[in-house]
Amino acid sequence: MYTRNETRRIMVRSVPIGGGSPITVQSMTSTDTRDVAKTVSQIQALTKAGCEMVRLAIPNHKAAEALFEIRKEVDVPLIADIHFDHRLALIALEAGIDKLRINPGNIGSPTRVREIAQAAMAKGIPIRVGVNSGSLKKEILDRFGSPSPEALVESAVEEVDLLDDLGFHDICVSIKSSSVMNTVHAYTLFAEKRNTPLHIGITEAGTLRYGTIKSACGIGGILSYGIGDTIRVSLTADPVEEVYTGISILKAMGIRRIGPEIVSCPSCGRTEIDIVQLAEEVERRAAKLTAPVIIAVMGCVVNGPGEARESDYGIAGGNGFGLLFRKGEVVRKVAEENLIDELFGLIEKDQKEGK
Ligand code: SF4
Repeated sequence: MYTRNETRRIMVRSVPIGGGSPITVQSMTSTDTRDVAKTVSQIQALTKAGCEMVRLAIPNHKAAEALFEIRKEVDVPLIADIHFDHRLALIALEAGIDKLRINPGNIGSPTRVREIAQAAMAKGIPIRVGVNSGSLKKEILDRFGSPSPEALVESAVEEVDLLDDLGFHDICVSIKSSSVMNTVHAYTLFAEKRNTPLHIGITEAGTLRYGTIKSACGIGGILSYGIGDTIRVSLTADPVEEVYTGISILKAMGIRRIGPEIVSCPSCGRTEIDIVQLAEEVERRAAKLTAPVIIAVMGCVVNGPGEARESDYGIAGGNGFGLLFRKGEVVRKVAEENLIDELFGLIEKDQKEGK
């Protein structure tokens, strides 16, 4: 049985992370943050796709200053991603961001980390400690010999303790590597040691197709242990794809039901219709639905409805006609060319009647 690991809860604007709250999907803008119009437009596209919080890279002073304008334009929780220069974090906090992502180890002296922690605490803003296999401290790398799961966890624990010792407990942690196995192992090790809410993902997962598979394996693997409170898919692609993939992972694992889900059979020697074209058309039209319905598209009238018993609605193609079914029960026989129209007619009718 799937049981969530118990973690503390932090709030990012109005969105909770951890403490049993729904696992959220986040992404990161790929625009130059100094370009306010482009960045706002991408944030809006991400939000429209279902992104629940958006991270922005803040590499310099001008990018930090741009946050004042960006903040005025969007309501979605914003996360400022900052390395090396603690002053950027202080500006971002002033600009009204809702969470900081830092790596305390590369911020410099403990005094600077303390300055950030105190400013964040004064505004009630949480901090994500982001540990990454590519930027481990030399001392830890020397001690462990490689960016192993144990080394990553050691780094995360040290950095969380650094903030804890400063009296700052509003923390979330990520421990990312581009290796699926190392990342899964690292998160399970960390979850045994601390109840800090966890942001999970596979870093630098790759291009759209392979990166999606790698992210699904890694994020899915971690989630299957009940670990993970918020997810980010990292793709070398339009970040909107990261949101679609993240939502799809949560849907595929049955963790969240967001919008429609299409179940379709692989087809076999019994298929007498173009199942690929049929499934794609159903997916295209279903994208307009907001309710979390499962729709099956099956290749034959003999086994289709039975195989898709867990679905809310479905169609099964035949030779010149097909079956329309609901919860595995046949509703009626329909001419093949009318199958899709009748399917969506039935869904709309049920939704109007509150079924
Ligand atoms: Fe084959 Fe029918 Fe099953 Fe599709 S639903 S895989 S066509 S038996």
